[in-house]
Amino acid sequence: MTGAQALPQVIDGKAAAAQVLAEVREQVLGLKEQGLQPALAVVLVGSDAASQVYVRNKILRAGEVGIASLEYALPATCTLAELLDLIAQLNADSTVNGILVQLPLPAHIDENAVLQSVDPAKDVDGFHSENVGGLSQGRNVLTPCTPAGCLRLLKNTLGDLRGKHAVVVGRSNIVGKPMAALLLQADCSVTVVHSRSLDAAALCRQADIVVAAVGRPNLIDASWLKTGCVVIDVGINRLSVGGSSRLVGDVDYASALTKASAITPVPGGVGPMTIALLMNNTLIAARQQWAAQGTL
Ligand code: NAD
Repeated sequence: MTGAQALPQVIDGKAAAAQVLAEVREQVLGLKEQGLQPALAVVLVGSDAASQVYVRNKILRAGEVGIASLEYALPATCTLAELLDLIAQLNADSTVNGILVQLPLPAHIDENAVLQSVDPAKDVDGFHSENVGGLSQGRNVLTPCTPAGCLRLLKNTLGDLRGKHAVVVGRSNIVGKPMAALLLQADCSVTVVHSRSLDAAALCRQADIVVAAVGRPNLIDASWLKTGCVVIDVGINRLSVGGSSRLVGDVDYASALTKASAITPVPGGVGPMTIALLMNNTLIAARQQWAAQGTL
């Protein structure tokens, strides 16, 4: 016996995303053969550089899987009324199946009012309270893309999640809370750790699964982890080193490798899954709308 630990599995988010996208593409092709074209509207307000990159990537991916995309760019000075008016038009347009409003919105715009104005049936981000409530009740609703992507990666890695203790670090509406709801639905015992938790590291050390969604570079190192746990790192943090910058997660990757049995890298882990699940949500929304209309 050497006592040496097996090398941890690096969870390949790019490969998993490619698989989801291939499945979506095949289904979209089938729909097109029936004369049905799924379409996604992407609304960008202002000229935030990161948001522009995210929107461009979403539109590129949509094209790759055969989903039509409509891009609406509004100036940062647009009013809430103008934005709500555009969303009302998209809600009423039967050729639009999914509506995504890129966040964050400029400070003068009430984000909640905007998210609530999207038709829940077209809410491919899963942020409308009807979908949030449905998720917490365990109903089959449109689910936020990042946590849905994390769940896929966990199921690919572990198979059945039943009975596992999952610790979600972070309680945002976009990632932490829906992640906890999805893990509960998958029969995990779930602990949510946040900025007011008394000993976040000690709670994490009890976990079979750690999902980190905090936004703090390298917060979680080996001392937070139980040997053999699976780590999903949602964090995307840009670190400037010397004259250049690089992306790191919320998990100190090199340190976590000494304890985890499997871990997502940053980049190349959760990020690619988010866009893939957005395409999947658009397909689901389109199918449900056409089924409700009796077209499918
Ligand atoms: P957020 O700022 O809305 O929430 C952060 C959460 O972390 C809060 O709930 C807070 O309570 C908790 N927190 C803060 N400090 C903590 C600490 N010391 N210990 C424990 N918990 C602490 O952030 P968010 O929108 O949920 O995003 C989190 C990270 O995930 C960011 O880095 C973001 O860029 C990234 N993100 C990635 C994707 C993706 O596609 N990969 C998608 C969304 C967000």
